[in-house]
Amino acid sequence: MQKVEPKKRLGQHFLKDKGICEKIANLYRSHEIAPKIIEIGPGMGALTEYLLKRTELDTWCMEVDDESVRFLDIHFPQLKGKVIFGDFLREDLSKITEGNKIGIIGNFPYNISSQILFKCLEYRNQIPEIVGMFQKEVAERVAEKPGSKQYGILSVLLQSFYDIQYCFTVDEHVFNPPPKVKSAVIRCVRNKRETLGCDEKLFIQVVKTAFNQRRKTLRNALKPIIQQADLPFLDLRAERLSVEDFIELTISVSRVFDLKR
Ligand code: SAH
Repeated sequence: MQKVEPKKRLGQHFLKDKGICEKIANLYRSHEIAPKIIEIGPGMGALTEYLLKRTELDTWCMEVDDESVRFLDIHFPQLKGKVIFGDFLREDLSKITEGNKIGIIGNFPYNISSQILFKCLEYRNQIPEIVGMFQKEVAERVAEKPGSKQYGILSVLLQSFYDIQYCFTVDEHVFNPPPKVKSAVIRCVRNKRETLGCDEKLFIQVVKTAFNQRRKTLRNALKPIIQQADLPFLDLRAERLSVEDFIELTISVSRVFDLKR
C-alpha cells in the first residue's frame, strides 16, 4: 500500500511538512513522568516518525481508520502491537494507562477536537501533558486569557487543570488536503490544582450558563440557574472572570442553594 487517500468524514488532513512534524514531536516535555504517549490519529505516520526518533518515549497510537492502521503495520513494523484500532472518544483509557501516566499528542481530527480535550480533562490525573494541533480558532479559545473575545467555556474548563501555551500557527498549505482554516499547535501541562474546591458539576454548569449569554452581565446570564441572590461578580460579564473567580462564584451559588434547601 503506497498511501491512504484522505477521507473527509474522518477529518483527515495529512501533514506534508516534515519540519513541522519534528517540531511538534519535540514539544512534548513530560517524558520523565510519562514516557508512554499515545498519538491520536497517526494517519500515515507523519508525526509518528519523529516521535519514534525520541527513544526515551514509548510511543503508542490510536487510529479509527482501518486503512491507516494497515498502512502503519506495513511501514512502521517497530510499532508492532502498539497501534490501537479504535475511536479515542469511545475507548476506555484506563485500559491503556494501566494506572500510569500517559501523554497525549497528535495532529487531531478537527471535527472532534473539543471532545478530545474534554475526554482528556476526564482523565486529567493520568495525563500530565497534551501536545496537539487544532484549528487555530480552537487553539486560541483554549489558550486565551480573561478579557478577550475568544475566552470562553473551553478556556475556563481547560485552564482549571492545565497551563496552556500557544506554540505556533500553521499554514493550511502544509496539509494534504489543505483545511479551510489555519491551524495552531498548543501545549497543555497539568497544573498543581488537585480539585477545584467546589462542586465540580455545578462549576461546569455555572461556566456554561454564564457564557451562554456572554454579552449579558452575570446577573442576567445566570438567571436560568439562580435569581436574586447575593453573589460576587454580578455586574461583570463572564469573559472577565478568571478560573479562580468562577470557583468563588460557584461556592457562593452552592451556599445559596444550601440555604434554600
Ligand atoms: N497525524 C496524521 C493524520 C492527521 S489527520 C498527520 O498529521 O498526517 C487526523 C487523523 O485522525 C486521521 O488519520 C483520522 O483517521 C484520525 N481520526 C479521526 N477520528 C478519530 C478518532 N475518533 N479516534 C482516533 N483517530 C481518529
